[in-house]
Amino acid sequence: MELWYTENHTENVRFSTKVNNQLVSLQSDYQHIAILETEEFGKILTLDGYLMVTEKDEFIYHEMIVHVPMATNLDIKKVLVIGAGDGGTIRELVRYPGIERIDMVEIDSMVVEVCKTHLKQTACSLDDPRVTIYYEDGLRYIRNIDNEYDLILVDSTDPFGPGEGLFTKEFYGNCYKALGDKGILVNQQESTFYGSYLDVMQRSHKKIKDTFKVCKVYQAHIPTYPSGFWLFGFASKYYDPIKDIQAEDWNKLGLKTKYYNTSLHLGAFALPNYVKEHLNEID
Ligand code: SAM
Repeated sequence: MELWYTENHTENVRFSTKVNNQLVSLQSDYQHIAILETEEFGKILTLDGYLMVTEKDEFIYHEMIVHVPMATNLDIKKVLVIGAGDGGTIRELVRYPGIERIDMVEIDSMVVEVCKTHLKQTACSLDDPRVTIYYEDGLRYIRNIDNEYDLILVDSTDPFGPGEGLFTKEFYGNCYKALGDKGILVNQQESTFYGSYLDVMQRSHKKIKDTFKVCKVYQAHIPTYPSGFWLFGFASKYYDPIKDIQAEDWNKLGLKTKYYNTSLHLGAFALPNYVKEHLNEID
C-alpha cells in the first residue's frame, strides 16, 4: 500500500508527495506536529497538516529570510526571531560572527524538541551560545520591548491558529518600538497567486507600510509552498535593501549559499506585474 501526504492548496488544488515512513505524529498544546519521511523531499515537518519545512527546499526560505537583511546591514548585532521552531533561520544567522545575540521566541517547545531529534538539518545550531530560546507567544513577548534589536525576523506559521496575531497592526507597531533607529523587520508574507491568501497579504503589507518608512516586498521560488512562489516583507526605519546593499563586503565574508547571492538579492525585489498590481490596489 502506498502512503501519500496531501495538502490542499486551495479547494481545487492539491499538493501530494509519497511518504515512506511516519516518524512523528503528536498533538501539542498548540498544534498537531508531524514528521514524515518522503521519497522526493526527504524529511518534512507539518503543523496542523500544513507543510512547513522539507529537507530538499528549506534552504531557499531560510537563506532568503536571513541573508537579504544581513547583506543590507552587516553591522547587525542583536536579532529577535519569532517562531522558527525548526531552527533553519537560526542556522543561517549563526554563520555571521558579528551577531552577538539572538533571541528566539517560539510558542511551542514541542516543535523545537521534535526538530532537534528528527530534523537535525535545520535544528543544528540552536545550542549556539549566542542563542536564547523563550517559549512564549511572540505577540505577547514583544509588547514589553523597547529599542532593543537591530533586526526582527518573523518566521511564523500562516495567519490562522497560533500565528494569527503576528499579522496584526498591534504586532507591527510593537516590532517598530522594539527596533533601534536603523532597525529592519523581515516577515514571511504568504503568496498572492491563489485568492485565498491575497487579502491577508495585502492587509499585512498595508499595516507594515503605515508603520515603517521603508516597506518593500521580495520573492523567492519555493517549490513546496502553494503556487511555488513566496513573498517576504522587508521593512525598515532607515535601510533600503536595494540602495544600501553591501554586496562587496557580504561577498568578502565567503559564506557558501545554495540560493542567495547578491545579484539575486537585487532581482528578488523586481516583482511580476500582477503582484505589483495587487500591492498597488491597497496603496
Ligand atoms: N521555517 C519555516 C518555513 O520554512 O516556513 C516554518 C516556520 S516555523 C516551523 C513556524 C513556527 O512559528 C512554528 O514552530 C510555530 O509554533 C511558531 N509560532 C506560531 N505562532 C507563534 C506565535 N504567536 N509566537 C511564537 N511562535 C509562533
